[in-house]
Amino acid sequence: MTSLKGKVAIITGASSGIGEAAAKRFAAAGARLVLAARRPAELERVANDLGGDIAILPGDVRDEAYAEALVALAIERFGGLDIAFNNAGSVGTAAPLTDLSAEDWSATLTTNLTAAFFGAKHQATAMVARGGGSILFSSSFVGAANGIPGMGAYAAAKSGLLGLVRTLAVELGPQGVRANALVIGGTDTPASAARQPDADPGVQAWMEQLHALKRIAEPDEIAEMALFLASDAASFVTGAAIAVDGGASITKM
Ligand code: NAP
Repeated sequence: MTSLKGKVAIITGASSGIGEAAAKRFAAAGARLVLAARRPAELERVANDLGGDIAILPGDVRDEAYAEALVALAIERFGGLDIAFNNAGSVGTAAPLTDLSAEDWSATLTTNLTAAFFGAKHQATAMVARGGGSILFSSSFVGAANGIPGMGAYAAAKSGLLGLVRTLAVELGPQGVRANALVIGGTDTPASAARQPDADPGVQAWMEQLHALKRIAEPDEIAEMALFLASDAASFVTGAAIAVDGGASITKM
């Protein structure tokens, strides 16, 4: 089994979905965790489910001071930082680009891309001081591999993460810090299209047929790849965009 014994990890978006699944996997692998998201009650629920020595800090990833505070908490509580899974994100306003306001464009970019930069900036400094580390991001098949009408800002943000990891990889590689993106396919979480209150009844089947496996993922299937990339088992993997997308990115004939 992949081990994170002795490692300290920050997971953002840990109150739900993929981040919650990653918290369970990382804890089971022996990591000490700092969990991040806005909703305190949900973070407490996840921490209570896990048991053990889990730190939680509610806040908003759009705020650079929050990124700094999460790293400070990891150092104060557990002595340093080895792993960060910058996973928090949301689709934002869905609209054709010709109808999208500047405010909605900026909001989606801030949540899904600028927040990742804030995280990496502060996490990297702590990891360099520690002698190495692993930084991960939740990118998406939307944008990184596929175009879906109405999701232009989200697509731009999620494909922007791929440029971010390549740059982080070359800037931080000499100091032993790796940076990678998970290019995630449709996953059954509260964010998935079919779970929205106004969802079209056909959206689940439409999502499923986009994937070669003709289904969407369980959050745990994404968390398993995050665990691998976070761990020393992936010691020669950096600057990569790893598809965990059930074949959604394959051009189908
Ligand atoms: P989810 O269940 O809705 O989880 C999103 C998480 O992000 C929640 O914990 C949420 O917590 C947190 N979050 C959102 N905005 C935040 C903010 N401003 N500050 C702090 N935390 C914030 O969705 P998910 O599917 O697990 O999504 C996780 C990541 O995977 C996202 O980046 C998403 O874009 C990506 N992804 C998802 C899919 C999919 O099909 N589900 C596909 C590709 C990529 P709070 O609400 O408590 O703040």
